[in-house]
Formats: sequence, C-alpha cells, structure tokens
Amino acid sequence: MQTLKIGMAFFAGMLLLTNHLVAQDKFTLPALPYSFSALEPYIDAQTMQIHHDKHHQAYVTNLNKALSGKDSVGTVEELLKTISTYPDAVRNNAGGHYNHSLFWTILTPTPNSQPSERLTAAIIKQFGSVDSLKMLINDAASKRFGSGWAWLSVGTDKKLFVSSTPNQDNPLMDVVEQKGTPILGIDVWEHAYYLKYQNKRGDYLSAIWKVINWNEINQRYDKLVPKGKFDDWPAIKDFHKVMSQTFHPSEEGNLAPIKSRSKEMIEKAEALKKSTIPTSFKKVQDISKTIDELIAGSKKLDKLVKAKASDKKITDSLTALHDVFHKIVGLCSDEDKE
Ligand code: MN
Repeated sequence: MQTLKIGMAFFAGMLLLTNHLVAQDKFTLPALPYSFSALEPYIDAQTMQIHHDKHHQAYVTNLNKALSGKDSVGTVEELLKTISTYPDAVRNNAGGHYNHSLFWTILTPTPNSQPSERLTAAIIKQFGSVDSLKMLINDAASKRFGSGWAWLSVGTDKKLFVSSTPNQDNPLMDVVEQKGTPILGIDVWEHAYYLKYQNKRGDYLSAIWKVINWNEINQRYDKLVPKGKFDDWPAIKDFHKVMSQTFHPSEEGNLAPIKSRSKEMIEKAEALKKSTIPTSFKKVQDISKTIDELIAGSKKLDKLVKAKASDKKITDSLTALHDVFHKIVGLCSDEDKE
C-alpha cells in the first residue's frame, strides 16, 4: 500500500513536472540549417552567431516568459493571426520568433538558386520581372524607418505582394494593413548587418540576394498556391472551362450558355485530340477513345442546338457529355469556373 502511495505521488509529481516543462518550452530556438560562416562574405559569421544565438534566442525566451501561465496558445502562426488580443510583449517576441525562423530558411550558402517556373510566372504577372521584384523589396526595405522587415507574401487572393512592417510585425498579424503569408522576409534591423555594413543598409540589401534560397521560397509558394490538376494540360483546362460554364447553368435550367457555345465545345474537344496528353493523364483508361467520345458527343449536342431541339433533349445530351468528360478528370471541382 505504502509503495503504491509513493508510486502515485511520484507519478503525480512527474505529471506536474511534465506540464510545467511543456508550458515553459512551448517555443524553442530552431537550429541554424548551416554554419555561422556559411554565408560569408555576404553575411559575416559573427553577425550570424549573435543574430541567431542571442537575438533570436531572446525572442524565444521572452515569448515563453510572456505566455507563461497561459493555456494552450497553438502554433506561432495561430498566435500571430489573433495577435491584437495579446499584450505587446507577445506581439514583439512572437513576431521576432516567427520572422527569424523564416529568415534562416530563406538564406542559403548554395549559390544560384532561382525562382521556379511557376513562381517566376507569378512574379512576372504581378511585378513585370524578377529584377523589378527585387527592386521593390529593396525599396520597401530601404524606406523602412528604424527597425523592421520587407516581405514578399501570398495574399488571401493567392496573389503575390510586397510590403514592409515595423519592428517584429509581419503580414500574418491581424494588426497589419496588408495581410498574407510571407514566403520571403528580409530583416532590416541593424543587428542583421551593422557589424559588417555599419550604416550602409543598401550594401547589405544588394549582398543578401546572393544568398537567397529560392528553392525554399518556391516550396513555400507551392504550398500556398497548389498546382491545379489541369496545369500540365492546357487543352483540358480550356475544354473544362466551356463544359463548366455551360453544364452548371443547365443544372439550374439555364440553357442559354450551351445554346450559344455548342460549336465552341466541338472546337475545344478537337483541340484536345490534337494536344499532347501529359503523363499524369496517360494512366486514365481508354483516354484516346474517351476524347473521341467527347468530340462525337459535342457534335451531337451542337446538332440538337442547331435543330432547336427540346430543352430536355439538349439537357440530356449535355449531361451525358459531362459524364464522359468526368471519365477523364474525376470529380468536378470549383477550379476554372471563372
Ligand atoms: Mn533580426
């Protein structure tokens, strides 16, 4: 009995201790993914060591301190999204922890990484060129008065934008003007460059592009803006657009779209036959035969439209064609409805 009591007391003690430790160590300093000197000569070893081991560590320590006694606060990202409900100590240190954790990963000693084809296309669409993006970021970084960050982020509309925030704020915070998820952040606190560059923030900003880890940024972008299932096959994307914009209205009894676009449907089906089927779709059973069925079905539908057949006949024919289409692409999604 005595042994059991001691055992239980020990167990309860361990539980308390464990809870205590979990609460204290909610956030921890991530290891630097390369050595302190790895980014030389662009960023010097001493700056990296102080920046990571002292500054970032202090944000982590002070964040845990500021949150001690609080129940579960979730991830740092979750915290940032409701940061307006926390005191400034949490805002500054949670921001500092998140921003630096991102910063270490978007730097690399491996030279010559590049934005991916997809990210490059998005950059060109939004900013004209990769060079103008760099200029915009450097401009935002140079103009940031005092301490802060310059960002490339993905907005809720999935579009890229450049912004700058003061102190340790960032685009995830509910208090900032332009909200989004950063995929690249440049630290323009003096502690990030002063030992090597002193007051020459511009020189630091030119140098940092030599050690930017585009591979990491590409991955972050792909996660936030996932590749569509038709991205490798523009012809099916085109066909789907016409199908989606005519079939879905027909489900609600609106046949105007199909009546005006039945000829276009044939054209898109024929273009599909001429296009190269990407590897990812080659495993679909009888794909060539199914494309032929799409052409035949589109022609039949067009004939019914031209002959001013009954709405029921047109609807049935379109529904059958839609079923054939889904043999190729699986279930319908909302993409490409626009
Ligand atoms: Mn910093």
